[in-house]
Amino acid sequence: MKIIAAVTRHNANGFCIEDLELDDPLDEEVLVRIVAVGICHTDLVAASGVLPIQAPAVFGHEGAGIVVKVGNKVTSVRPGDHVALSFHSCGQCERCAIEDPSYCHSFGLLNFTGIRQGGSNLHDANGAAVAGSFFGQSSFASHCVANQRNVVKVSKDIPLSLVAPMGCGIQTGFGGVTRALACTAGSSILILGGGAVGLAAIMGAVLCGCEQIILVEPHANRRALALELGATCVIDPYGEDTEKVVKALLPTGVNYALDTCGINAALETAYRCLAPRATFGLVGAPQDWEQKLPGSLAQMIQNGIIFKGIIEGDSDPQQSIPELISLYQEGRLPIDRLVSDFPLSQINEAVAAQHAGTCVKPVLLPN
Ligand SMILES: [Zn+2]
Ligand SMILES: [Zn+2]
Repeated sequence: MKIIAAVTRHNANGFCIEDLELDDPLDEEVLVRIVAVGICHTDLVAASGVLPIQAPAVFGHEGAGIVVKVGNKVTSVRPGDHVALSFHSCGQCERCAIEDPSYCHSFGLLNFTGIRQGGSNLHDANGAAVAGSFFGQSSFASHCVANQRNVVKVSKDIPLSLVAPMGCGIQTGFGGVTRALACTAGSSILILGGGAVGLAAIMGAVLCGCEQIILVEPHANRRALALELGATCVIDPYGEDTEKVVKALLPTGVNYALDTCGINAALETAYRCLAPRATFGLVGAPQDWEQKLPGSLAQMIQNGIIFKGIIEGDSDPQQSIPELISLYQEGRLPIDRLVSDFPLSQINEAVAAQHAGTCVKPVLLPN
């Protein structure tokens, strides 16, 4: 079928809206009409050419929409269902077997390569193959084909523009704090970066009962929003000395830190703010792929520091997305405060607004 998609060709034009041809779903696949799709940092990293994906390619991995057609072996959803799209997993390895799919042994292959089992299902106007299947979806498009494993049925009483970012950014920040770090009540946490992941982490810290929730974020409007969402202290890393501010509040340091930005200098500073027995969670893609952990081994041993790499907030989307929706509906996860809608045709403007800090989570609407 003919679809419209934002295509990356690794040239100066950014994303280009093009007509593409999308094949029908195979046995275990689902054709979804995309109603909303969030822009996540990983899309932009991938579009910049860091991941091993050949252009032309379609990115997008926070899709939400309505099922149009399903393959013969699909049992979990049917046409008309509202669905969230999340990351893909194999369903067969030892991590998938214990419902821990974010550490699936095939996570990289299924999410980062743009290679679909059975070959590309996406072609451009000249008949050339376009890399799709990014995070098992490639949802910067009017339609995409996903696998039933990364399609989650959701209730129809929540706008799909709020469901979309739950598939990656929100579950990463919220799950990072509530599940991966499992912060204890009364504890303190330092969060690096106040984008959608960092602000969702604040919501998670509030739910965990953290007493001190400190955010480091350069944009003033995001710091102001963080205070409204429950941060107890915000720090401008360019105008203030982060370590000094943290140590003035907590002389022995924080119990937890969560990095969402991958900036080396910020990691070094946060490391110096850790209390003995602290856990430092890492979700932000590093600036440099070869980046090493901050601090010295000796300090780490002496203080009993734990570093914890975290993918997707240790979430199983089939469970986590319905949980996030319930929390939103109870008023405990106000993600509507983070989302700004843009038409898909304005994807480049949406990326610019996110870079400038004028919006937190751009969500693209294909129609
Ligand atoms: Zn697996
Ligand atoms: Zn993401």
